Amino acid sequence: MMKTNSYTHDIDFFGNLNPQELVEKYGSPLYVYSEKIFRERCKEMQQLIQGKPFTSNYSIKANSNLTLLKIAREEGMYADAMSPGEILILEKAGFSSEQIFFVPNNVSEDEMRFAIERDILISCDSLDQVETLGRINHGGRLAVRINPGVGAGHHEKVVTAGKKTKFGIGMDKTDELQKLLDKYDLHLEGINQHIGSLFMEPGPYLEAARHFLNLASRFKELKLIDFGGGFGIPYHKLEGQERLDLKKLSVDLSNLVGEFAAEYGREVLFKAEPGRYVAAECGVLLGQVHALKENGGAEYVGTDLGFNTLARPVMYDSWHDIEIWHDGKPSTAESVPQTVVGNICESGDILAKDRVLPRAYAGDIIAVLDAGAYGYSMSSNYNNRLRPAEILIASDGTDRLIRRRDTYEDLFRQFDV
Ligand SMILES: *Cc1c(COP(=O)(O)O)cnc(C)c1O
Repeated sequence: MMKTNSYTHDIDFFGNLNPQELVEKYGSPLYVYSEKIFRERCKEMQQLIQGKPFTSNYSIKANSNLTLLKIAREEGMYADAMSPGEILILEKAGFSSEQIFFVPNNVSEDEMRFAIERDILISCDSLDQVETLGRINHGGRLAVRINPGVGAGHHEKVVTAGKKTKFGIGMDKTDELQKLLDKYDLHLEGINQHIGSLFMEPGPYLEAARHFLNLASRFKELKLIDFGGGFGIPYHKLEGQERLDLKKLSVDLSNLVGEFAAEYGREVLFKAEPGRYVAAECGVLLGQVHALKENGGAEYVGTDLGFNTLARPVMYDSWHDIEIWHDGKPSTAESVPQTVVGNICESGDILAKDRVLPRAYAGDIIAVLDAGAYGYSMSSNYNNRLRPAEILIASDGTDRLIRRRDTYEDLFRQFDV
């Protein structure tokens, strides 16, 4: 099994400075993003379906840094928003109403109005939400999120279709849906699905797409068919995990869509909704080793990377590859099992358990790979800690701040003090 501690070094991830220098310049913890990788992933996703009108909607809950959003727009992507806040930041990044798809669940009338006033298409996630929309926007347009009855994902918390999930309108409810559409004279312009997150083989996505197109043929006036996101990335790349075969997926999906389009007889815009695939691999989270200890036979590496900075390991038991950098270079120390923990006062604050890594020393830099998606966007001020800064390594290797670190003033902003 290939094991390496120098992946980021080998692909020249950090540009003109090494992680040690970046931390000296911007502080720790620090999110570092590679513009080059982000653009590559946007391009790959824009080419997913060939030969028919297609665009990928970047699902910005994965990472909504304003600079990255602007780059995604430059690459021609559209975007999915889950909340009014996400709509606002997309507008700031220059996305037009037509380029934004509002895919929320369980929203208030006010939140729907927020999108309607901007002429942003809303996808309704339940019959109740269709009813609400009909009441406040009689004669308007909408999309609906269908639950196709099959789901997939790396953890039950991210399986978002199938029998046991809160998402979507079941296919057994299409008669009731039609009644509501008639009652409020609503125009069903689109259907979308999202079956789950982090699939690594083309098969399940293709199956879901095939199934979805069968359902789509029941609706006669669609302008938009959205297959959802969930494209996986290799979180075990240091051990040589293979990438998702996007070429194969692209060929098969394009064929499928081509056959459907020939029969449907109406021009449809096809969409996918990638989040993780676009943002995960462009991001590395840097932190510092502050203390080492042995407890009950385990070696603990104490860092400033609490789960307030990266929640995934604690929330989903997720694996993130880790590199140790010593004196500005990938460490060459002997590898031993170590448990990497953060600075939050909870025993569950564990980034990696019994991980075989080069022996860490105080002052070493920890580089957590594939942290660009659901990293900063899920970070918090738990324990009144400051959320990290974010920097961009531009395609020419230069680094710049793209979101400042929280300040202590930020922690008091909402109080009358
Ligand atoms: C989160 C989400 C996505 C993106 O999921 P990824 O696994 O990051 O690709 C797409 N669509 C919907 C509706 C989502 O909630």
